[in-house]
Amino acid sequence: MMTAAEKPPLDLKLSAPRGFCAGVDRAIQIVELALKKFGAPVYVRHEIVHNRYVVDGLRAKGAVFVEELDEIPDDGQPVVFSAHGVPKSVPDSARARQMFFLDATCPLVSKVHKEAQIHFKRDREIVLIGHAGHPEVIGTMGQLPEGAVSLIETVEDAARFTPRDPANLAYITQTTLSVDDTAAIVRVLLERFPAITAPHKEDICYATTNRQEAVKRIAGLVDAMIVVGAPNSSNSQRLREVAEREGCPVSILIQRAADIDWSRLDGIRSVGVTAGASAPEILVEEVIDAFASRFDVRVELVQTAEETIAFNLPRELRLSAAE
Ligand code: SF4
Repeated sequence: MMTAAEKPPLDLKLSAPRGFCAGVDRAIQIVELALKKFGAPVYVRHEIVHNRYVVDGLRAKGAVFVEELDEIPDDGQPVVFSAHGVPKSVPDSARARQMFFLDATCPLVSKVHKEAQIHFKRDREIVLIGHAGHPEVIGTMGQLPEGAVSLIETVEDAARFTPRDPANLAYITQTTLSVDDTAAIVRVLLERFPAITAPHKEDICYATTNRQEAVKRIAGLVDAMIVVGAPNSSNSQRLREVAEREGCPVSILIQRAADIDWSRLDGIRSVGVTAGASAPEILVEEVIDAFASRFDVRVELVQTAEETIAFNLPRELRLSAAE
């Protein structure tokens, strides 16, 4: 271990807001409270949030993660649906099997589901801006019959898209997209289809927007940016991209401090640290400690917004939260 005098100085800018959002916090609480109230096992369909540390922690407490409901026995124990949301067919088949389910879908994802349903009722053709294969996109498209929603991933897709009736079109988006990329796609849609119906209030959620804004503030000022998050976490991937596009020379997404490739950080004098919406603060602290063991670190908090949002728990769990 080097002494402080031997360590090179490092200016560490800690981005805020970072890490857990209200939807992730609620989803984890749902699993924890269900375990407390109903005992193990509590089944969870899909990773409750995209973070291995969180998933392993819940598994150790008795959560059993499955990809589909048919992996769950008829033992009367609850099943929790993940924060990303699920296609309508999932609660439908849970009801058909008389399963006890708790829905941890983030209310901001449910809001997009409702928008899709309203557009559908009004006979509008729906365009979803999002990433193919992401569980949130599968869940949102699965609110409506096949073919009702067309997925657009890029500006090129928007330029190529041929609607059935350009005068009767609406768009919705995934909640965790790049704010800038989405704006570019929407611009193309608006140019081509000026009558397209937009969401009343942005579908990209407050947490995604705030974390990207905070990273933008820092990215041009530091030699490297570390994003703590999972490779399958959309909002974490976007944070890494935002830093790169703002001209940060090295922008790295890591799950844990042990993943840091120090050879890429040779000679840096400043670093930014942020975390995706599903990454717990303990993993950020681990990263700061790892830097402190190699550098003489001066930490500066760079805060661009205050977050006070919290979501209600499902009714079945409200009492146990208060106990
Ligand atoms: S990132 Fe946004 S939409 Fe996703 S769980 Fe968090 S608050 Fe909800």
